[in-house]
Amino acid sequence: MNPFHYAPADTVATALAALQQHPTAVPIAGGTNVLDLMKENVARPRMLVDINRLDLSAIEPTPQGGLRLGALARNAATAYHPLVRTHYPLLSAAILAGASPQIRNMASNGGNLLQRTRCVYFYDTATPCNKREPGAGCSAVGQLARQHAILGASAHCIAVHPSDMCVALAALEATVHVEGPGGPRAIAFADFHRLPGDRPDQDTVLQPGELILCIELPPPSGFFAHSAYLKLRERTSYAFALASVAAALKFNSEGRIARARIALGGVAHKPWRRTEAEDVLVGQAPDPAVFDQAASVLLEGAQPQGTGLGHNGFKIPLARRAIVRALALATAGTPGPERPNATTPGIPA
Ligand code: SF4
Repeated sequence: MNPFHYAPADTVATALAALQQHPTAVPIAGGTNVLDLMKENVARPRMLVDINRLDLSAIEPTPQGGLRLGALARNAATAYHPLVRTHYPLLSAAILAGASPQIRNMASNGGNLLQRTRCVYFYDTATPCNKREPGAGCSAVGQLARQHAILGASAHCIAVHPSDMCVALAALEATVHVEGPGGPRAIAFADFHRLPGDRPDQDTVLQPGELILCIELPPPSGFFAHSAYLKLRERTSYAFALASVAAALKFNSEGRIARARIALGGVAHKPWRRTEAEDVLVGQAPDPAVFDQAASVLLEGAQPQGTGLGHNGFKIPLARRAIVRALALATAGTPGPERPNATTPGIPA
C-alpha cells in the first residue's frame, strides 16, 4: 500500500476543502471498497478524507412525500428502516441481496453508488485495463468475460456495475444530491452512472471534489405492493449478479398495468433501464407473453462478449427469463419479508 495522508472532517465544508487539496483525494466512509482497492494497489489516493463524522446519516421523509437517505446511512440501516421496508420494499430487497451482513453493516449509501467494478482484470495490476489506467487497453475484450456486459459496452471497456442497491434506485427514479466547489446540485439517478465510451475510467458524472450528501426517493406512487428484486448469481450468497431485475408494477381497478418500472443489473456499466420497455406493459393485463415483449425491448441491442468457456452469451436468455420471472413475482405481490406490514423475526420493525 502506498503512503497517504489521513484527513478527518467534521463538517461538509471541511470535507470539501480537504478533497480539493489533492486531485487524487477520496472520501472514505465504510471503506468496504476503497480499502480493498488501495491494498491491491489498484487505487493510490494521496489523501483519504474521513467523512464518518459528518451529519449525513439521517433517513427522513421529505416535504414532497418521498424519503431522503443520508449518504452516510449504512446499507443495513437503510434496508431495515421501517419507512424503507414499508414504502420502498424493492430497495430493501435489493440491498439485502448484495454483499454480506458484515459488509452491509459497514457500507454507506454514498459508497454503494461509488463502488468500482469487480472485473477481475481491473483488480489484477499485471494486466492492462483502461479503467485503471486510461489508454492501457482492455484485457477482457475477447477473453474471459462471463461476468461482463451484454449492453452498453464499448471497445474500451465491457465491465459491469456491481451494485444491487443502484438497480432499485434506478427503477425508483431516485435523485442524487451532491455538493462541490461549484455548489450543490441534484443529479437524476439515470444520469449519475456513465456508460464506458472512450472514458471507462470515469464511472459517474461526479466532478472532482464533489461529495454525495443524500439520495432522495420520490413519493412511493403505489409501487410498494407489487415489486420484486430477482438476482441470479453463481452461488446463493455473497456473489455479484450475472443478471438482476428490479421490477415494480401498479395496477388499475380493472387489473391492468397502470405503471411499470424495470431496471437490470449485472448486464451493463450502469443500471440498465429503457422506458420504452415499460411502455409495452402499460394498459396490458399481466401475462408472460407481454412480459416477454417488454424483455425484448429492454434487451434490444444486447451483444455477447468473451470467448470459449468465458463467453457470456448465456446472459441474454438468462436476463430475458429473469425479467419475465421478476414481473410475474411483482404481479403476485411484493414477496418475502419485504411484503408491506410484514414482520421478520430478528429484524427490528
Ligand atoms: Fe478494465 Fe473495463 Fe476492460 Fe475490465 S472490462 S479490463 S475494467 S477496461
